[in-house]
Amino acid sequence: MAGLVCAARARELGARPVVLEKGTRPGGSMLLSSCVIWRYRSWDEFRAECPGGDEQLQRLVWERLDEAIEWLESLGAPVVAGETGNPRTVGKRFEPCGLTDVLVRAAGDVRLETPFAEVDGPLVLATGGFQGSRELVDRYVAPAAPLRLRANPWSVGDGLRAGLARDAALSAGMDEFYGRNMPDADFSESEFVPLAQLYGRWARVFDEEGREFFPGKVSWSENDLVQATARRPGARAWYVLDEAAHERRVRDRTVAEIVALAPTALAPDELPFPAPPGSKVAVRVAAAITHTIGGLRVNERARILGEDGRPIADLYAAGVDAGGISTGGYASGLASALVLGLTAAEAVPDP
Ligand SMILES: Cc1cc2nc3c(=O)[nH]c(=O)nc-3n(C[C@H](O)[C@H](O)[C@H](O)COP(=O)(O)OP(=O)(O)OC[C@H]3O[C@@H](n4cnc5c(N)ncnc54)[C@H](O)[C@@H]3O)c2cc1C
Repeated sequence: MAGLVCAARARELGARPVVLEKGTRPGGSMLLSSCVIWRYRSWDEFRAECPGGDEQLQRLVWERLDEAIEWLESLGAPVVAGETGNPRTVGKRFEPCGLTDVLVRAAGDVRLETPFAEVDGPLVLATGGFQGSRELVDRYVAPAAPLRLRANPWSVGDGLRAGLARDAALSAGMDEFYGRNMPDADFSESEFVPLAQLYGRWARVFDEEGREFFPGKVSWSENDLVQATARRPGARAWYVLDEAAHERRVRDRTVAEIVALAPTALAPDELPFPAPPGSKVAVRVAAAITHTIGGLRVNERARILGEDGRPIADLYAAGVDAGGISTGGYASGLASALVLGLTAAEAVPDP
């Protein structure tokens, strides 16, 4: 998303940007997403939810998002819901194919199957993170076992590597990621959303060895539970549900309906450890990564900072490549991509 937004805005400002897209289609993970672009309703809640994030960048995203969403709408991006449906957050839900088409048209020169190369002049790194690289995920996130990928296949850390090659500094939260627990089975892109097992807060959660491992309350986003799962043997867990949990609702579906889609659901007496009394069903889940949270360190003009804390000439990052915004928690990746994309376009050239 961030690259397309940046080019669209730069073109509006009179520049002639080129978007170099490695994939066979534009839109990256945005195209595959639920496309809810949101911020926390209150600034204090954002800080409390993501306490390790860079405060200046958080401020930028939080303060600019509403105007940025209006800008998307002014381009003709299709809104399917004017609210997020979550009382903690405000934002809008867009239709991802329509949003991608609008941004591609506004960006102008988008070249598919063309990985970026170093250029003379400003370069905005917007490759979407490093979740697709097993090597980089092992190095920085260090899960107990490989994570399943729940994202576009092309975001393999090319932006991170290019930044590091130019002595960029890393942000906080290199070991964190945003993801979902999914059934521990293969799944396709069209199943990323419907198969997400987003009811861990009502389950008893055990690891493969039958140990209940998550202390305390699971957060509303369940991202803490997913990251804890990534650190258990096999990066897997069992969700064990009683009748009451089975009947809960997640948005427009019951938990029972979500479980029914999971190929790894089984009866409690089939578990490899004794089921708690009153169990109705169990689902084997695996941690899946949607995007990394740490990345290149940028300032509030999207300029990449070097180890010495100074901006590196002509080098910018936006979207997931710009790390450290939601460190310690979870915030909208699309919101960061949108605001940092606009910011980078407006900062180039930046003497
Ligand atoms: C199933 C799913 C649901 C989601 N739902 C939401 C949601 O509702 N709300 C929300 O805020 N976020 C959501 N997200 C996350 C959101 O999609 C991402 O945070 C967002 O797309 C990140 O934007 P980006 O521009 O950094 O990366 P992307 O949108 O992934 O774009 C990165 C692009 O860079 C390209 N690329 C990679 N390497 C190179 C290279 N070397 N050269 C050129 N191009 C390259 C990729 O092919 C890709 O097109 C969801 C994601 C998924 C997968």
